[in-house]
Amino acid sequence: MNLKLLKNSLKNEPAYRFKQCQQVIWHDLIDDWQKAFNLPQKLRVELNQKIPLELEAKIIRSDDKKTIKALITLIDDKKIETVLMRHNDGRNTVCVSSQVGCPLGCLFCSTGQVGYKRNLEIDEIITQVLFFARLLKKENKKVTNVVFMGMGEPFLNYDNVIEAIKILNNKDYFNIGARHISISTIGLPEDIYKLSKENLQINLAISLHAPNNKLRDKLIPLNKKYSLNQVLTVVKDYIKETNRRVMIEYIMLKDFNDSEQAANQLVELLKYLPSKLYLLNLILYNKGDFLNNKFQPSSPKNVALFKHILGRNKINVTERHRFGKEIDAACGQLANKYNH
Ligand code: SF4
Repeated sequence: MNLKLLKNSLKNEPAYRFKQCQQVIWHDLIDDWQKAFNLPQKLRVELNQKIPLELEAKIIRSDDKKTIKALITLIDDKKIETVLMRHNDGRNTVCVSSQVGCPLGCLFCSTGQVGYKRNLEIDEIITQVLFFARLLKKENKKVTNVVFMGMGEPFLNYDNVIEAIKILNNKDYFNIGARHISISTIGLPEDIYKLSKENLQINLAISLHAPNNKLRDKLIPLNKKYSLNQVLTVVKDYIKETNRRVMIEYIMLKDFNDSEQAANQLVELLKYLPSKLYLLNLILYNKGDFLNNKFQPSSPKNVALFKHILGRNKINVTERHRFGKEIDAACGQLANKYNH
């Protein structure tokens, strides 16, 4: 679905046609313009020729069928991956990509090893949700949540990500509540500040992953530019401005950031934030199969001890459930194999 091409094809039509077309694509989830009964027949035929609505993707399902990964080929033959996670409580979360690859090169992340190819267009972001929305419609189900945790750093594609969120949130289109949409960032201060002024009720997750700059420098090259102090300062301002709770993400890496000392340092670091307005999320590492990956997941014993120390210090802490590990659909595992 190419929105620019659609707009161009409608240039001789009344102005309201574009909105009508968006409604049938994003809300009615049609896969053939002939089903767009609000449009004149001549236009339907024309649009079917110029902008067909079929979506093709290679699908892989996890053994328990709860996770589905879709590999989508873009117009320039680049490939992106998107994942549907079906929760036991009925939620259906789509994890979307915002870039092809990523320029930030975090050392634990498969996508970071691919390098950067390009930003995704607004429609390329939404199409990932559309793909799964159509699939779920066959079972009378809906996409309930969207997380920007796929390939790429969403804030490096800020404008397109925000526009895509507005379409996902729009009552006439997908109608996904803003509180059910999350952006996960490695921590770009200017963009966190910008987001705090958007008046959007979406969720923000910060990938902290280390309790001090020395360790974070080794994991996230961008930390040399934006230190922990800078990131947490802007997060504190964000909380103050929006009064929204922020998720702090911490990936558990064996013998790297999972010691008792690291837990105690993290406790000290997080004192900087208002305690009721953040939640610490411990992520069990999914070791991707990229070359030279020197990181291993922490042992369950270390995770439990780490969690205990944080809990003892009254930090609200949770563990993220692992989805789709065996199909490389977990955090940081997307699209390493296809974009070299
Ligand atoms: S963790 Fe996020 S920001 Fe870092 S390389 Fe991976 S996709 Fe990019």
